[in-house]
Amino acid sequence: MPIDVYPVSQELAVYLRKKLLAWEQNNYPAFPWRDEIPPFHALVAEVLLQRTRAEQVVPVYLNFVRVFPNPASLAQTNIPDIEKVIAPLGLRWRARFLHELGKELVADGSVPANLVSLRKLSGVGPYAASAYLSFHVGRRVPIVDSNVVRFYGRFFGFRTGPETRRDRQLLDLADSIMPKRAFKRFNYALIDFTRAICRPKPLHDICPVAKRCAFYRERFRGEFNFT
Ligand code: SF4
Repeated sequence: MPIDVYPVSQELAVYLRKKLLAWEQNNYPAFPWRDEIPPFHALVAEVLLQRTRAEQVVPVYLNFVRVFPNPASLAQTNIPDIEKVIAPLGLRWRARFLHELGKELVADGSVPANLVSLRKLSGVGPYAASAYLSFHVGRRVPIVDSNVVRFYGRFFGFRTGPETRRDRQLLDLADSIMPKRAFKRFNYALIDFTRAICRPKPLHDICPVAKRCAFYRERFRGEFNFT
Protein backbone atom coordinates (compact mmCIF):
# COMPACT_ATOMS: atom_id res chain seq x y z
CA MET A 1 0.00 0.00 0.00
CA PRO A 2 2.05 2.98 -1.17
CA ILE A 3 1.55 6.21 0.74
CA ASP A 4 2.13 8.46 -2.24
CA VAL A 5 1.54 11.70 -0.33
CA TYR A 6 4.91 11.37 1.42
CA PRO A 7 6.93 13.56 1.69
CA VAL A 8 4.39 16.13 2.86
CA SER A 9 5.00 19.77 1.90
CA GLN A 10 6.39 21.95 4.65
CA GLU A 11 3.42 24.29 4.24
CA LEU A 12 0.91 21.49 4.86
CA ALA A 13 2.86 20.14 7.83
CA VAL A 14 2.91 23.62 9.40
CA TYR A 15 -0.84 23.98 8.75
CA LEU A 16 -1.63 20.69 10.49
CA ARG A 17 0.60 21.44 13.47
CA LYS A 18 -0.92 24.89 13.99
CA LYS A 19 -4.50 23.71 13.69
CA LEU A 20 -4.12 20.71 15.98
CA LEU A 21 -2.15 22.61 18.62
CA ALA A 22 -4.77 25.39 18.61
CA TRP A 23 -7.57 22.82 18.93
CA GLU A 24 -5.82 21.13 21.85
CA GLN A 25 -5.61 24.40 23.79
CA ASN A 26 -9.37 24.27 24.35
CA ASN A 27 -9.79 20.52 24.46
CA TYR A 28 -6.97 19.13 26.61
CA PRO A 29 -8.34 16.40 28.91
CA ALA A 30 -6.46 16.31 32.23
CA PHE A 31 -6.23 12.54 32.62
CA PRO A 32 -4.46 11.47 35.85
CA TRP A 33 -1.53 9.87 33.98
CA ARG A 34 -0.76 13.25 32.41
CA ASP A 35 0.46 14.56 35.77
CA GLU A 36 3.99 14.02 37.05
CA ILE A 37 3.80 10.38 38.12
CA PRO A 38 6.33 7.61 38.84
CA PRO A 39 7.73 5.88 35.72
CA PHE A 40 6.18 2.55 36.77
CA HIS A 41 2.67 4.00 36.86
CA ALA A 42 3.29 5.97 33.66
CA LEU A 43 4.24 2.80 31.80
CA VAL A 44 1.28 0.85 33.21
CA ALA A 45 -1.07 3.67 32.17
CA GLU A 46 0.19 3.51 28.58
CA VAL A 47 -0.13 -0.30 28.61
CA LEU A 48 -3.74 -0.06 29.84
CA LEU A 49 -4.51 2.56 27.18
CA GLN A 50 -3.57 0.17 24.38
CA ARG A 51 -6.81 -0.68 22.59
CA THR A 52 -8.93 0.86 25.36
CA ARG A 53 -10.77 4.18 25.60
CA ALA A 54 -9.09 6.64 27.97
CA GLU A 55 -12.33 7.43 29.82
CA GLN A 56 -12.71 3.73 30.65
CA VAL A 57 -9.13 3.50 31.90
CA VAL A 58 -9.40 6.37 34.44
CA PRO A 59 -11.10 4.52 37.36
CA VAL A 60 -9.09 1.34 36.74
CA TYR A 61 -5.83 3.29 36.68
CA LEU A 62 -6.68 5.16 39.90
CA ASN A 63 -7.44 1.89 41.66
CA PHE A 64 -4.35 0.22 40.18
CA VAL A 65 -1.95 2.85 41.55
CA ARG A 66 -3.58 2.53 44.97
CA VAL A 67 -3.30 -1.29 45.04
CA PHE A 68 0.11 -1.49 43.33
CA PRO A 69 2.35 1.37 44.47
CA ASN A 70 5.49 -0.17 42.91
CA PRO A 71 6.65 -3.03 40.64
CA ALA A 72 7.36 -5.33 43.61
CA SER A 73 3.76 -5.14 44.82
CA LEU A 74 2.58 -6.14 41.33
CA ALA A 75 5.12 -8.95 41.02
CA GLN A 76 4.10 -10.38 44.41
CA THR A 77 0.37 -10.45 43.64
CA ASN A 78 -1.17 -13.52 42.05
CA ILE A 79 -2.69 -13.22 38.59
CA PRO A 80 -6.37 -13.67 39.63
CA ASP A 81 -6.05 -10.71 42.01
CA ILE A 82 -4.53 -8.56 39.25
CA GLU A 83 -7.42 -9.65 37.02
CA LYS A 84 -9.89 -8.31 39.57
CA VAL A 85 -8.27 -4.86 39.45
CA ILE A 86 -8.33 -4.59 35.65
CA ALA A 87 -11.59 -6.53 35.13
CA PRO A 88 -13.68 -3.41 34.24
CA LEU A 89 -11.56 -3.05 31.09
CA GLY A 90 -12.29 -6.60 29.89
CA LEU A 91 -9.21 -8.13 28.31
CA ARG A 92 -8.37 -10.09 31.46
CA TRP A 93 -5.44 -11.75 29.70
CA ARG A 94 -3.56 -8.53 30.30
CA ALA A 95 -3.24 -9.53 33.98
CA ARG A 96 -0.65 -12.17 33.08
CA PHE A 97 1.41 -9.64 31.10
CA LEU A 98 1.19 -7.09 33.92
CA HIS A 99 2.37 -9.70 36.40
CA GLU A 100 5.35 -10.49 34.16
CA LEU A 101 5.97 -6.77 33.68
CA GLY A 102 6.14 -6.28 37.45
CA LYS A 103 8.70 -9.08 37.77
CA GLU A 104 10.80 -7.75 34.88
CA LEU A 105 10.88 -4.23 36.32
CA VAL A 106 11.91 -5.58 39.73
CA ALA A 107 14.74 -7.51 38.04
CA ASP A 108 15.81 -4.49 35.92
CA GLY A 109 15.59 -2.04 38.80
CA SER A 110 13.99 0.73 36.70
CA VAL A 111 11.85 1.44 33.65
CA PRO A 112 14.08 1.62 30.55
CA ALA A 113 14.12 4.82 28.52
CA ASN A 114 14.66 3.50 25.02
CA LEU A 115 12.37 1.90 22.45
CA VAL A 116 14.24 -1.39 22.06
CA SER A 117 14.33 -2.19 25.79
CA LEU A 118 10.74 -1.07 26.35
CA ARG A 119 9.49 -3.33 23.55
CA LYS A 120 11.12 -6.32 25.23
CA LEU A 121 8.94 -5.87 28.33
CA SER A 122 5.79 -7.97 28.67
CA GLY A 123 2.63 -6.30 27.40
CA VAL A 124 4.42 -3.22 26.05
CA GLY A 125 3.37 -2.79 22.42
CA PRO A 126 4.62 -0.19 19.92
CA TYR A 127 2.00 2.37 20.99
CA ALA A 128 2.72 2.03 24.73
CA ALA A 129 6.49 2.22 24.20
CA SER A 130 6.25 5.33 22.00
CA ALA A 131 3.70 7.03 24.25
CA TYR A 132 5.83 6.35 27.34
CA LEU A 133 8.91 7.86 25.69
CA SER A 134 7.11 10.88 24.27
CA PHE A 135 4.89 11.77 27.22
CA HIS A 136 6.93 10.65 30.21
CA VAL A 137 10.58 10.73 29.13
CA GLY A 138 10.47 13.69 26.75
CA ARG A 139 11.78 11.91 23.66
CA ARG A 140 10.70 13.06 20.22
CA VAL A 141 8.93 9.88 19.07
CA PRO A 142 5.87 9.78 16.77
CA ILE A 143 2.70 8.26 18.21
CA VAL A 144 0.85 6.04 15.77
CA ASP A 145 -2.22 4.07 16.81
CA SER A 146 -5.25 2.98 14.80
CA ASN A 147 -6.95 6.38 15.34
CA VAL A 148 -3.93 8.27 14.02
CA VAL A 149 -3.69 5.96 10.99
CA ARG A 150 -7.38 6.56 10.24
CA PHE A 151 -6.92 10.34 10.48
CA TYR A 152 -3.82 10.51 8.28
CA GLY A 153 -5.44 8.18 5.75
CA ARG A 154 -8.51 10.40 5.53
CA PHE A 155 -6.69 13.73 5.64
CA PHE A 156 -4.07 12.87 3.01
CA GLY A 157 -6.31 10.54 1.03
CA PHE A 158 -4.58 7.17 1.09
CA ARG A 159 -6.01 3.75 1.79
CA THR A 160 -5.21 2.14 5.14
CA GLY A 161 -5.32 -1.40 6.49
CA PRO A 162 -4.49 -3.32 9.65
CA GLU A 163 -0.74 -3.20 8.92
CA THR A 164 -0.52 0.48 7.95
CA ARG A 165 0.63 1.56 11.42
CA ARG A 166 3.79 -0.49 10.92
CA ASP A 167 4.43 0.88 7.43
CA ARG A 168 7.79 2.68 7.19
CA GLN A 169 6.36 5.44 4.98
CA LEU A 170 3.55 6.08 7.45
CA LEU A 171 6.06 6.34 10.30
CA ASP A 172 8.21 8.71 8.23
CA LEU A 173 5.14 10.79 7.40
CA ALA A 174 4.15 10.96 11.09
CA ASP A 175 7.70 11.94 12.01
CA SER A 176 7.83 14.70 9.38
CA ILE A 177 4.62 16.30 10.65
CA MET A 178 5.61 16.21 14.33
CA PRO A 179 7.22 19.52 15.40
CA LYS A 180 10.84 19.59 16.52
CA ARG A 181 10.15 21.23 19.87
CA ALA A 182 6.46 21.07 20.84
CA PHE A 183 6.27 17.36 20.01
CA LYS A 184 4.74 16.34 23.33
CA ARG A 185 1.89 18.85 23.05
CA PHE A 186 1.41 17.89 19.41
CA ASN A 187 1.26 14.17 20.22
CA TYR A 188 -1.35 14.84 22.89
CA ALA A 189 -3.28 16.95 20.37
CA LEU A 190 -3.09 14.19 17.79
CA ILE A 191 -4.39 11.40 20.01
CA ASP A 192 -7.07 13.64 21.57
CA PHE A 193 -8.23 15.00 18.21
CA THR A 194 -8.38 11.58 16.56
CA ARG A 195 -10.32 10.20 19.53
CA ALA A 196 -12.80 13.12 19.75
CA ILE A 197 -13.23 14.53 16.22
CA CYS A 198 -11.81 12.33 13.47
CA ARG A 199 -13.33 9.27 15.10
CA PRO A 200 -14.90 6.32 13.23
CA LYS A 201 -18.02 8.49 12.75
CA PRO A 202 -16.19 11.75 12.08
CA LEU A 203 -17.45 15.13 13.25
CA HIS A 204 -16.67 17.00 10.02
CA ASP A 205 -18.81 19.99 11.01
CA ILE A 206 -16.58 21.00 13.90
CA CYS A 207 -13.29 19.79 12.43
CA PRO A 208 -10.60 22.50 12.28
CA VAL A 209 -8.76 20.88 9.35
CA ALA A 210 -11.78 20.03 7.16
CA LYS A 211 -10.83 22.65 4.58
CA ARG A 212 -7.67 20.75 3.63
CA CYS A 213 -8.93 17.20 4.28
CA ALA A 214 -8.91 14.93 1.20
CA PHE A 215 -11.74 12.76 2.55
CA TYR A 216 -13.95 15.75 3.28
CA ARG A 217 -13.20 17.48 -0.01
CA GLU A 218 -13.97 14.33 -1.95
CA ARG A 219 -17.19 13.64 -0.09
CA PHE A 220 -18.56 17.16 -0.33
CA ARG A 221 -17.11 18.00 -3.73
CA GLY A 222 -19.32 20.55 -5.47
CA GLU A 223 -21.16 21.60 -2.32
CA PHE A 224 -18.56 24.10 -1.14
CA ASN A 225 -15.98 26.36 -2.65
CA PHE A 226 -12.74 25.08 -1.08
CA THR A 227 -10.37 27.60 -2.59
S1 SF4 B 1 -12.86 16.67 7.90
FE1 SF4 B 1 -13.72 14.81 8.77
S2 SF4 B 1 -12.50 13.14 7.91
FE2 SF4 B 1 -11.35 15.03 7.61
S3 SF4 B 1 -9.97 15.18 9.35
FE3 SF4 B 1 -11.83 16.32 9.87
S4 SF4 B 1 -13.17 14.89 10.95
FE4 SF4 B 1 -11.57 13.69 9.89
